[in-house]
Amino acid sequence: MWSFCSYPNDDGTKSKLAATGVESSCECAPHPNALGEDSSRRRFLQMTVGGTVAGLVTAAGVEFAAPRRLLAQTTLSPDAALQELMEGNKRFTSERPTSFEHDLAILKQHTIEKQEPFAAVLSCADSRVPIELVFDQTIGHIFVTRIAGNIATSEIIASLEYGAGVLGTKVILVMGHGGCGAVKATIQAKEVPGQISALYPHIQPAVDQAGPNLEAATKANARIQAALLRQSSTVISGLVKANKLKVVAAYYDIGTGAVSLLE
Ligand SMILES: [Zn+2]
Repeated sequence: MWSFCSYPNDDGTKSKLAATGVESSCECAPHPNALGEDSSRRRFLQMTVGGTVAGLVTAAGVEFAAPRRLLAQTTLSPDAALQELMEGNKRFTSERPTSFEHDLAILKQHTIEKQEPFAAVLSCADSRVPIELVFDQTIGHIFVTRIAGNIATSEIIASLEYGAGVLGTKVILVMGHGGCGAVKATIQAKEVPGQISALYPHIQPAVDQAGPNLEAATKANARIQAALLRQSSTVISGLVKANKLKVVAAYYDIGTGAVSLLE
């Protein structure tokens, strides 16, 4: 939709870097009216990727937003980060996603040197749970770990510690989903080839707690893995205690595309 984005300096003149297309402190955002976006969405777009000046692009051309200093993405509160994820899911379920309207070339330029994802998601590897699509997000916005059964193994915990402790993610969403094969296989305790059964011990506590109902066990598993993250990681528990991070369990309905929070 857009092939370029221009950014003024504080004195209103065009930035030299913007002219070369390598400005590292701008955000290409669609005209809010064209997309029916609300003001909170606009504010968020202007805050992304460490931006300091926002340019608004309309279908008719380019118009400059008033130059302003903007907050870094990682200054979002945990509640605001969670809200942004859920608002993205609402756009996804209402079939009005906006993430595809970002200029990917500009986003790639912005994120060569650093990343500032505002949220992390631990989800299943299932092909029906495409995280960026489900939350209507794009490059550099969410730090995603995926593993069958969305289980908090030590490697997954290490990855999420990096996301929260180093990159500054403000929320970790642990998300189970409808029709999860890993939970189903654990319930059935099926003989499976190779190392697939290595998943079972991680999911078994949820089956013991919730019984053989697939949805109930999947939701219990998301809650248990979220609790494990909060308790077994000193990095994560420290940030949670300091109110700098939230760890929340959620469930994804693969039929409707809706994410519901479990706590
Ligand atoms: Zn699954």
